[in-house]
Amino acid sequence: MKDLIISTWNPLGGACPHECKYCSTEKLMRYPVIKEKYTGEVKFIEKEMNTNLGSENFIFVCAQHDLFAKEVPESWISRILMYCSKFNNKYLFQSKNPARMHDFLPLFPVGSMLCTTVETNRPELIEEFSGGAIVEERVEAIGELYGAKRMITIEPVMAFDVDRMADLIIKADPDFIAIGANTGLLKLPEPTKDDVIRLIGRLEVSTRNDCIIHIKPNLERIIGKR
Ligand code: SF4
Repeated sequence: MKDLIISTWNPLGGACPHECKYCSTEKLMRYPVIKEKYTGEVKFIEKEMNTNLGSENFIFVCAQHDLFAKEVPESWISRILMYCSKFNNKYLFQSKNPARMHDFLPLFPVGSMLCTTVETNRPELIEEFSGGAIVEERVEAIGELYGAKRMITIEPVMAFDVDRMADLIIKADPDFIAIGANTGLLKLPEPTKDDVIRLIGRLEVSTRNDCIIHIKPNLERIIGKR
C-alpha cells in the first residue's frame, strides 16, 4: 500500500461553505471548468459514482471541499463513504467540522485516516482566516475518534503560541502530524523559525513513539533546510 497521497477524488461541487481565506481552490478559479464546479450551492456530482478509484492507492476525498460541513446532506456522505469502500484503497478524510465524523464511523473504509486542521491556536486568526469549528472543538472531536487513525494537519501554519499549540495537538493523540507553510497568494501572519522549531521539538518529545511527524518541503521557506 502506498503511503503518500497520490490522487484526489472530488465528488462534491459548489463552494465549500467554510470559505477559508487561504483556500487553494481560489488559485484554481482561473480555469473555467474548476470555476463552474466549485461555484454556488453544494452539489453532488452524480457522474463521480462511475469513477474507477483503482486499488492500493491513497486518495484524499473531497480535497477541495469539506465532506462533513453541516451543509452537506447525510445521504451524500453515506453514499460517498460506501462508494469508497468498494475499492481496495486507503483514504484521507479531512474536515474542519470533525465532530460530524462521529455520526459516520461505521461507514468509513478500513484504514481511513481522519484529519482536522489546526493552523494556529489563536482564535482571532481562526476567526479571520479559517472556517468551521473553533480549533479546540476540532481537536477534541478528532481526539475522541477512538479506534480510527487520526491526523492533524498544521497547514498553512499561522503564528501561534508554542506551548498552547503543542498542548492542543498532543491532546488529540494523533497517529500522523503534517506541518507545512502557506503556498497561496494571500499573506498570512506566520510564525517565526524559532517558534516552528520549538513546536516540532515539543511534538517529537511528547507524542507517541509511533506518531509520524511529516515536515512538508514547503516549510523550508520558514525554517530553512533541516
Ligand atoms: S475547508 Fe478546505 S476546501 Fe473548504 S474553504 Fe477551507 S481550505 Fe477550502
